[in-house]
Amino acid sequence: MFSLANIAQFERKQVSERVTANQIARAKRGLFNGGTIPCGYKSNPYKKGYLEIEPKDATLIKKIFELYLKTETLAATAKWLNSHGYRVKRSVEGGGNHRLGFFTVMNVHCFLNNKAYIGIRVYKEKGVTQEAPAAWEPIIEKDVFEEVQKRLKENCSRFKPMTSKNRYPYLLSGLVSCKTCGFSLTGKSAHGNGGKIPYYEHSWSTRRQSGLVKKVFDCKPHRVPAKKLEPLVGMKLKSF
Ligand SMILES: [Zn+2]
Repeated sequence: MFSLANIAQFERKQVSERVTANQIARAKRGLFNGGTIPCGYKSNPYKKGYLEIEPKDATLIKKIFELYLKTETLAATAKWLNSHGYRVKRSVEGGGNHRLGFFTVMNVHCFLNNKAYIGIRVYKEKGVTQEAPAAWEPIIEKDVFEEVQKRLKENCSRFKPMTSKNRYPYLLSGLVSCKTCGFSLTGKSAHGNGGKIPYYEHSWSTRRQSGLVKKVFDCKPHRVPAKKLEPLVGMKLKSF
């Protein structure tokens, strides 16, 4: 029994090693190994691993790059696309279902730094990210792509949390979560009558919805004043 189990395990390990080696070899040749096909491409039914440009989606991708260079903000790009009726489409090789969704700061960012659009196949070999010329045509010109990367890097600092002294110390940021949806609440300030008011709010849905013109918040309350929540947590902690 032991011998059989050992042989089975050895066999399984060898198969998995062979699969990995094969996938890396394919990636080096610039081939696509399955999974979510980047928007703007479709799989070639006759040549496995080769992608073809889907003209309509490719136009949308070009539009995203163009919009970002014009607006220089991810949220403005997402907002423009959403309000003009554009939606995100994803297709999986092997005929998965098409999902449509709103553009968000996050997915716009993903489109903008996907090297697949300049014809580069990015893959991992032993945990190290490698690049190879892809087996498909680029959609975006290299100059445009590099210009976008430069601006993304420059504008990145705008999204980082403030380090100034007047920032409210959100002690519970990420430690508290919503009972209804389970997502964590993070500290954020909002302007009220008496100046800035610190809140703990649904950070994920706020980010997800930053690209929408009309906001829909699912949970009530969406945010809790820090001045209310912190003393309560403090009291509970003391009694604990
Ligand atoms: Zn919630």
